[in-house]
Amino acid sequence: MPGKNATETVLADAAGIARAAAILAQGGLVAVPTETVYGLAARADSADAVAKIYAAKGRPDFNPLIVHVRDLAQASKHVAIDEAAAALAQRYWPGPLTLVLPRRDDAGLAPAVSAGLPTLAVRAPAHPVMQALLAAVDFPLAAPSANRSGFISPTTPEHVLASLDGRIDLVLDGGPCSAGVESTIAAVRADGSVDVLRPG
Ligand code: AMP
Ligand code: MG
Repeated sequence: MPGKNATETVLADAAGIARAAAILAQGGLVAVPTETVYGLAARADSADAVAKIYAAKGRPDFNPLIVHVRDLAQASKHVAIDEAAAALAQRYWPGPLTLVLPRRDDAGLAPAVSAGLPTLAVRAPAHPVMQALLAAVDFPLAAPSANRSGFISPTTPEHVLASLDGRIDLVLDGGPCSAGVESTIAAVRADGSVDVLRPG
């Protein structure tokens, strides 16, 4: 609960990942390293858990989150993947490319995860800790950067705590992030054209 307890930090070994998976399953918030920056993860299929991300970050509720998945097969449960999107995913996943695609009617995710939009941003990250965590849970993870809204994205556990200590349940310490730059965000249109919404 934000403000009530100090945030726990654990090494991202097998025991740490198991602990993070258990906290996420219960609807908690966990900061996780990715190859870009630390993400603030919650289960994307729970409206309560997703609401906690917005509250902890002080993020406006009209700013949608990125949903992290293991791979293209998991992404296809939540978004419509056409040929152009599949080609991009096959070329760049796992990796720092986020695709904005039509959200499936049966996506099974909290509407707030995409701020009520008909599209959903999805990415399959390459970082071994985030991949291990996604393999340890049976739901996708909504994960924006693990900082208070309006502040710089964190690349170390210390940066995460400087912004969010006491507001989140756990930090999985996987050391510094290698890229330090956010993922590229690309929208794939129905005609197959691609718009880069954010360079990464
Ligand atoms: P962050 O993870 O904090 O770097 O923020 C996620 C970024 O993804 C924000 O800039 C959002 O505006 C963008 N984003 C997420 N979902 C969508 C979407 N459905 N359409 C366009 N942009 C999106
Ligand atoms: Mg951010």
